[in-house]
Amino acid sequence: MSNAELLVGQLSHCKETSPRKWIARCPSHDDHSPSLSVRELADGHVLVKCHAGCETQEVLESVGLSMRNLFPDNQRAIDRRKIWAKKHELIKELLSEEKMYVLIFNAHVAAGKSATELEVKRVALARVRIQKIERILGDE
Ligand SMILES: [Zn+2]
Repeated sequence: MSNAELLVGQLSHCKETSPRKWIARCPSHDDHSPSLSVRELADGHVLVKCHAGCETQEVLESVGLSMRNLFPDNQRAIDRRKIWAKKHELIKELLSEEKMYVLIFNAHVAAGKSATELEVKRVALARVRIQKIERILGDE
């Protein structure tokens, strides 16, 4: 969802008058005839104008948004957060796999089975990874 769509989704009596241009009742004053214009530029910038004279900041705050919602940077920040959330999920998956490896290794040793040099090295690596990941994740 673009910033413009986020804004117009909150406005009442909103009409798209031409592609990426909307008119709606201004949420910042007692508006009976739609006097708020919203326009989305090709680069994602959003222009907002209340023809009755409300400050753009007031208009945005009335619907829980702020000036930064007029800039495409915010959309990129949302995308970055989504990417981070995915990485975070993968890191947690890796953590549980490494923990599983250590558990299985310990069970084998406890059952009196011998471990190869490679398996001993691998479990040492798993323990290092677990420590590193848990440090990154902090106290979640
Ligand atoms: Zn207004």
